[in-house]
Amino acid sequence: MNTKEKDLKYIMHTYGRYDVALKSGKGATAYDEDGKRYIDVSSGIGVNSLGYCDEGWVKAVSQQAGTIQHMSNYFYSSQASDLAEKLCSLTGLAKICFGNSGAEANECAIKIARKYSFDKYGAERNEIITLKNSFHGRTVTTLSATGQEVFHNFFFPFTRGFKYAEPNNLDDVKNNIDEKTCAIMLEVVQGEGGVNILDKDFVKGIADICSQSDILLIIDEVQTGVGRTGKLFAYEHYGVNPDLVTVAKGIGGGLPIGICMCGEKLKDVMSPSTHGTTFGANPVVCAGANYVLGRVSDETFLSEVEKKGAYLEEMLLKIDGVKNVRRLGLMVGIEIENDAHDTAAKCVANGLLIITAKDLLRMLPPLTITTAELDEAVNILEKTLKEN
Ligand SMILES: *Cc1c(COP(=O)(O)O)cnc(C)c1O
Repeated sequence: MNTKEKDLKYIMHTYGRYDVALKSGKGATAYDEDGKRYIDVSSGIGVNSLGYCDEGWVKAVSQQAGTIQHMSNYFYSSQASDLAEKLCSLTGLAKICFGNSGAEANECAIKIARKYSFDKYGAERNEIITLKNSFHGRTVTTLSATGQEVFHNFFFPFTRGFKYAEPNNLDDVKNNIDEKTCAIMLEVVQGEGGVNILDKDFVKGIADICSQSDILLIIDEVQTGVGRTGKLFAYEHYGVNPDLVTVAKGIGGGLPIGICMCGEKLKDVMSPSTHGTTFGANPVVCAGANYVLGRVSDETFLSEVEKKGAYLEEMLLKIDGVKNVRRLGLMVGIEIENDAHDTAAKCVANGLLIITAKDLLRMLPPLTITTAELDEAVNILEKTLKEN
């Protein structure tokens, strides 16, 4: 059996895959098992922020793997504490908690929000408002947090205590707030929801309401964080100070990690045995994340991300069949006249690894992609749209 046949026989079919078995990669270039070359503008859904097999990242990870590969959370780890210090000093947040995925980071934020409210106001104040069209993960609770009906099927009973408000409609958020509200949770750019960039006034308005009523503001930066939008974190574009920020995808540079960061007010809410996970804070993963954060937090690096994004947008808008581009940094949604899913599959066949979000094409290229590689990606997309 080849890779595809084994996959179809032995792996549960929870993903519809493209018809490609990837074997290796370097930077924004990937190769399949037949040696065919692809330009990758998907980064494994925004995970490979420095591209495939970045030299410094490989060195950091492999050195750590040969030093100490895992220890339990009953011991101190310099890789974990260095990463925590770096994140806190870069953001002004106070403390972080480790997990292994975006969904776990969000679960942690939800637990902290509820415990803060429980400690201060009692058990009744436990509801969290999220936005329609959001995406927060695949665990039973984060599916509940996700404001899309299609995710609320099959797995009943779902976690209670979530309400959904219209994005960019502050009145609707206000109408959903009552004495039971403990937090509001949102992505400032809804990634899976179609690269929906929230309005500045809306996000600022929510932040104001939150600080007035001691409602916690949770920003899900799982997709937008770590340089993706041209700032270290996307909430910086909005001038707000969240109480909780969740990070995952891009910070590991390719290894599984989820982090929940909190501000001063929340730093002592969680006490021993209120939360944990065996693999959280793994030193190999943290070594990779320390390396990624060191590279990405540089101001010049971040301004390059925005420059490349602006260049890409300009090129995309020149293509026949492209109707509109929604973009913040290198987080890019492309509205096209043709069917996005069909077009994405054809792009892949033509050597461009691209993904979709709702009925848009989506690009989350490695932050290190070059303009020559962006040109190549745009050319393949243009050619593919012409063929259709
Ligand atoms: C991908 C994503 C998640 C879930 O992350 P996993 O690592 O897949 O659990 C949560 N929130 C947002 C905004 C995401 O894009």
